[in-house]
Amino acid sequence: MEEERKLEEVVGEKKNERIQVAVRCRPFLKNDINRGDLGQLSSRWEPKGERGATTVFCDPEKNTIKVSDLTHVVESRYDKIFDQDSTQHEVFDFMKPGLNDLLTGINCTVFAYGQTGSGKTHTMFGPKWEESVASRLSGGMKNDFFSNIDNHGIIPRTISHLFSTVDMKKHTLYCSFIQIYNEKLYDLLQDPEIEHPLDIREDKNAGIFVEGLTEYVVEKDRDCFILLKRGERNRVTRSTFMNAASSRSHSIFQLLLESNKMDSDGMLMRAKLNLCDLAGSEKINKEEIMNEQHFEELKTINLSLTTLGKVISVLGKKQSKKHIPYRDSKITRFLQDSLGGRTKTFLVAAVSPGEDCVEETISTLKFADRAKQVMVRAKANTFKGSDDALVKRLQKEILHLRDIL
Ligand code: ADP
Ligand code: MG
Repeated sequence: MEEERKLEEVVGEKKNERIQVAVRCRPFLKNDINRGDLGQLSSRWEPKGERGATTVFCDPEKNTIKVSDLTHVVESRYDKIFDQDSTQHEVFDFMKPGLNDLLTGINCTVFAYGQTGSGKTHTMFGPKWEESVASRLSGGMKNDFFSNIDNHGIIPRTISHLFSTVDMKKHTLYCSFIQIYNEKLYDLLQDPEIEHPLDIREDKNAGIFVEGLTEYVVEKDRDCFILLKRGERNRVTRSTFMNAASSRSHSIFQLLLESNKMDSDGMLMRAKLNLCDLAGSEKINKEEIMNEQHFEELKTINLSLTTLGKVISVLGKKQSKKHIPYRDSKITRFLQDSLGGRTKTFLVAAVSPGEDCVEETISTLKFADRAKQVMVRAKANTFKGSDDALVKRLQKEILHLRDIL
């Protein structure tokens, strides 16, 4: 790797803080099964009410959530509870402090975790995001998703926020978009017809990187939105090749922010932002397995989410010598330098209000509970810079981007 990629030991801001954990419960949808909650999330907790028992009860003021499976009641408090009335704006506000820290060189990772249909994609991208991109592909979609700002989830809001707050003359922003499907990593900004999983490598100086991953330089929010749509389009196309619903893959939209000017010590700043829409976390239900391929998919999802849970658990334990199983799955390996140590991490655990989902809802809350224990020590990343090399590289990549757009 080039000299300017060299990561140096960091002298910078250090903050000890926990992973920030929010739970978002979506509204009832037509097909949800509920026991007497009349299609509304309960406004009162009635474990044995006249209309039957409440399944999920959110208290956004106390930031608590209660879930009842008729035999047990699980009650937990999180940093934030978002109920059915929560807006995309409020959810964005929860992780916005991470964007402010990004400017000081602190990595930031945001995860949406939860069972399929619980609202992960709604939270990260926006409502009916996949459908709107798919419908655009087939020539439909008069109402462009991007023109309705209220719909925007965390990713489009992040793009708008960064371009309106970061001085792009002093910084460079790179954009990548990946998908992990069946423990293989794909570049969503590359042509999906080229079936070409990429390898994750580690370099003494550069840390974890994906060999051959496209990193576009983005100068305007519009460029970034184009890449976001292109990645999603490729994901939709690829998922038809593979006969896989997008809910069976993890997708990570990554932005890398670098300063263009060295400080007085000749150092440049670099911070990575990972926005992750994880695969659905539901357990394997043997009756629903359609075929061998489907079984493999579910097995690898379980493996990767279990590994993510384990990594988070180990990180939460106070031991000096601990083995952290980053290498046991692609998602944890990819996020290795964004999970431990230097990162500010936010988890949005998405849950459904329906009675039929209660078991998965409780299991999602357990995952969120483990994440709550983890202390992170966010630290700024700086590295030894060389202006010339950096400028040359940027010019090359801008040309490449122009070419493609
Ligand atoms: P997941 O990505 O977890 O599988 P989705 O984000 O696709 O789930 O959500 C499933 C369905 O629920 C979609 O139709 C989505 O529009 C709807 N939905 C999810 N969260 C909300 C919410 N907070 N408000 C309204 N509808 C929602
Ligand atoms: Mg989804």
